[in-house]
Amino acid sequence: MSLRRACCPTCKKPVSTIAETRPRDFPFCSERCRLADLYKWLNEEYSIPVAPSPDYSPSAGPPSAGPLSDGPSPYNNGDDGEGS
Ligand SMILES: [Zn+2]
Repeated sequence: MSLRRACCPTCKKPVSTIAETRPRDFPFCSERCRLADLYKWLNEEYSIPVAPSPDYSPSAGPPSAGPLSDGPSPYNNGDDGEGS
């Protein structure tokens, strides 16, 4: 496999991966695209709530808190269980 081309993550333009011809801002096609991607990441980071409220902790609760849990279900009558 000799994949000699990549795509600029920002503008999806084909970017050469060959050392002699690839842009200085590889894998971006240009410095402008590199900065655009950087700012995009920064904006996404700023939009994420860094300190969630103590009441909201979905991973800290008991695993059988929802109706989709795999535990013993009242709807299971054992019709295909052990048999006899
Ligand atoms: Zn680009």
